[in-house]
Amino acid sequence: MASRSLGLMSALLLALASTPATAGKSARRVPNMPRGWSWPPNPAMVEAGKRCREVLAEREVEFDGGKGKKVNAPVVVPSMELGGVRLEPTWRKGPFVMDCHLALSLLEVAPKLRALDVAALRFSTIHDYRHVKRNGRKTNILSRHAIGLAMDVFEVRLDDGRVLKVKSAYADEDVLHEVEAVFGSSDRFRTPLTPGNDPKGHDDHFHLEARMPLPR
Ligand SMILES: [Zn+2]
Repeated sequence: MASRSLGLMSALLLALASTPATAGKSARRVPNMPRGWSWPPNPAMVEAGKRCREVLAEREVEFDGGKGKKVNAPVVVPSMELGGVRLEPTWRKGPFVMDCHLALSLLEVAPKLRALDVAALRFSTIHDYRHVKRNGRKTNILSRHAIGLAMDVFEVRLDDGRVLKVKSAYADEDVLHEVEAVFGSSDRFRTPLTPGNDPKGHDDHFHLEARMPLPR
């Protein structure tokens, strides 16, 4: 009896202590993270990361562990090639840390990109700890780049050597729309942001975001 009322009391105290802070926080926070995502990583995320690395190894991708702020399962792929598609930086120097789920998702869609004669996706950024911008203003929404799941592709290089810039070639080159469709139709990726669906914010690149499937 005594311990029960004590338990009740401490539960009440805990509720009193935590409610205002939690309420204030959740009112400000705009959820943009994968469902079930938390920081520090919860056991489901640790498990998902472990499984992802196992699959990547089974698929014979060579990778190292990496470090990235708030990246759940950081990996570095030294070859920067997944399924025959190269990932080429447009100006930054590597190594480029990404979440394992981005690497695995790119590997999954690689055959469809190769079927379009895509030799390389040329990107500016993968992991970058930053917030989403809306109308040129920083929001308090954490970008998927911040958790290593997103990649900004500015150019696509084809087998014939042509490099198609999203900014100048999107209007005329069907293959860029086909590349967009590969990502748009894959359940491994969220709908890409492109000049087609977000001409204001993404007139010069494809913003690609891999999913991190987590149990609810
Ligand atoms: Zn982006």
